[in-house]
Amino acid sequence: MLRKIFPILFIILTFTATAQSQSSKMYTFVAELMKKMTLDEKIGQLNLLTDGGGVPTGSVVNTDVESKIKEGKVGGLFGITGVEKIRRAQEIAIMSRLKIPLIFGLDIIHGYRTTLPIPLAMASSWDMKLIEKYARTASLEATADGLNWTFSPMVDIARDPRWGRVAEGSGEDPYLGSQIARAMVKGYQGNDLADKTTLLACVKHFALYGASESGRDYNTTDMSRLRMYESYFPPYKAAIDAGAGSIMSSFNEIDGIPATANKWLMTDVLRKEWGFKGMVVTDYTSINEMINHGLGDLKTVSALALKAGIDMDMVGEGFLTTLKKSLQEGKVTQKEIDDACRRVLEAKYKLGLFDDPFRYCDLNRAKTEITSTDKKAAARELAVHAQVLLKNDNNLLPLKKYGTIALVGPMANNMDMLGTWAIAGIPANAVPVMTGIKNAVGSNVNIIYAKGANITDDSVLARNAQVFGKKFEMGDPKLQLEEALQAAAKADVIVAVVGESSEMTGEAASRSDISLPASQRNLLEALSKTGKPLVVVLMTGRPLAIVRESEIANAILLSWFGGDETGNAVADVLFGNYNPSGKLPMTFPRNVGQIPIYYSHKRTGRPNGDGPTQKFRSNYLDASNDPLYAFGHGLSYTNFSYSDVKLSSSRMIKGQALKASVTVTNSGNYDGEEVVQLYINDPVASVTQPVKKMIGFQKFALRKGESREISFTITEEDLKFYNNDLKRIVEPGEFHVFIGGSSSDTRKASFILQ
Ligand code: BGC
Repeated sequence: MLRKIFPILFIILTFTATAQSQSSKMYTFVAELMKKMTLDEKIGQLNLLTDGGGVPTGSVVNTDVESKIKEGKVGGLFGITGVEKIRRAQEIAIMSRLKIPLIFGLDIIHGYRTTLPIPLAMASSWDMKLIEKYARTASLEATADGLNWTFSPMVDIARDPRWGRVAEGSGEDPYLGSQIARAMVKGYQGNDLADKTTLLACVKHFALYGASESGRDYNTTDMSRLRMYESYFPPYKAAIDAGAGSIMSSFNEIDGIPATANKWLMTDVLRKEWGFKGMVVTDYTSINEMINHGLGDLKTVSALALKAGIDMDMVGEGFLTTLKKSLQEGKVTQKEIDDACRRVLEAKYKLGLFDDPFRYCDLNRAKTEITSTDKKAAARELAVHAQVLLKNDNNLLPLKKYGTIALVGPMANNMDMLGTWAIAGIPANAVPVMTGIKNAVGSNVNIIYAKGANITDDSVLARNAQVFGKKFEMGDPKLQLEEALQAAAKADVIVAVVGESSEMTGEAASRSDISLPASQRNLLEALSKTGKPLVVVLMTGRPLAIVRESEIANAILLSWFGGDETGNAVADVLFGNYNPSGKLPMTFPRNVGQIPIYYSHKRTGRPNGDGPTQKFRSNYLDASNDPLYAFGHGLSYTNFSYSDVKLSSSRMIKGQALKASVTVTNSGNYDGEEVVQLYINDPVASVTQPVKKMIGFQKFALRKGESREISFTITEEDLKFYNNDLKRIVEPGEFHVFIGGSSSDTRKASFILQ
């Protein structure tokens, strides 16, 4: 009867009832299992090991892994790939006394065998459906190869491009970051973790890892709680609200206590305030690293981590080797060990591993699904949407499909385009830009290739950026430059593909100078002097300081590291098969001295105004405060013109909503896609507010000549901020609304909240 009258209510009730009965089944199952477990076996579940088969990111890898598995001393493995190896390891686990299966993790950061664009590139698409597809594509491949747990998404807000790990995240903004976090979790986990094609997501790095001082990896972080809640916590919270099943603690300290031992963070915020019920794993040896932080010996720091709320110890074996003793000494409780063990077992239960430990070990799937054509097609679609057109004077792009192109630059015919953390990627599958261009234009265009410069001539940088294998072919700089100039002399247009090598971003890849290496700057200077139109394709994993290059290039296409299909995707955009629609998720500074730089800054008591530097104002003697390219910036081959902002009312009554709209017209010559961004400012509040804060955006396609009204509903919730008691409040008064195609190019309207 209920089903007939209220079909949706019926579905919700049935769904809730089923979910409840599944959870209670899980609780009973795990409780029964734990009754049979010895203390050693429980502690064994907290132990996550690697045999170093992936890329070890610390100096330690584990030994005697096989015998430890047999003895029930291992809860999970990471860094191994492939159905056969994983099956073998699982078979060993099933030989242990209680036959508890292992969980298998890996850093599946941007695709698996098919490498997709780096996360920062994907964030530039501002397209949540595509981002979900991005995670789903990785899930499909990785689960077909035996894996069930990914150490992704990384949702650390990052406002310092010196930090190499900006490449792994979604940039600077908590609102955009939260949307992406949600989409990624959905893409990985789907609706059912026990589905053979879904991965358990691991949100990382909790918390604030992106705020490491001076952009140096693993460095100290220190910030007010107000800022944590307002700007840094939202993406973690969004991922957890989306159902992420696990979370990883970060290396850094917070309020003087490393995250891994930070009970306020791991228990008060994460579990009590946010209601997280999943599993918490440490980062690589981060328990042991607390000895270096100065918190005590291994036994002490392991006990601190457990008490803080950590469930699984990655690599360091501090839990395995000390918890029993700590229990005997009363330093930890049985309940703390039991809680951690229960959460690890629950994760395995949710993955369906107790039903079938070999659930993900299907060789047929491995054969048919890994690097299949649909994955390749997805890789190209994603890479195409990830690119950002930074500059395009006189509509130099798209290029004509005839004439002669001088294709120059160390990244133009280079296979190093997978980007950081492509552990399972296949470098040989990457399509270089030269190949992509040839695929796109065939013999209609005459391409003259010259490398033009080394990635860098600096031997120290070259050494430090090739730890994982040789990537630089070092040639004679003078000769290379001559060849490039000769090529340019014969060409109608120059396409210079420049940037960083993939190892120049990622973990432990901070730079104190984020300009292009001098070798490439010289190349661009020389090319610009030829007077030929100069298109720069920029391959990088971080925003770079490219003021001079922006002056001398006529067009700049930011391709980031696009994964396998980089070359085809770059060609798709260069020749107009796809009209670029990406927008920057992170500000491009003018120079390193401006860092940290982000659009959502505060006003200060002495705002600098728009004009030149003024004495006793908050500005620099030698640079403007403005970024080179603002957050949200990104051009198209067409033009989008914006009407003024219309508000449905000049007043918002508390508890009611208001509509803000603009009409966007495609007034150029191409069909295209635009991302309309909505920002808010609260000019008078009891806590100082940023000059702008994004509260919404919409991406949509518009045919040339077409107009569309884009509306946003603004609610009281959108106007809230954290006060000094860390309560989210809203205060009546005036609010400014900004809508536009970039944070630096908006139209404004105002209303009063009553
Ligand atoms: C990184 C993590 C990664 C882990 C396992 C660490 O060094 O910080 O992001 O998931 O290694 O590979």
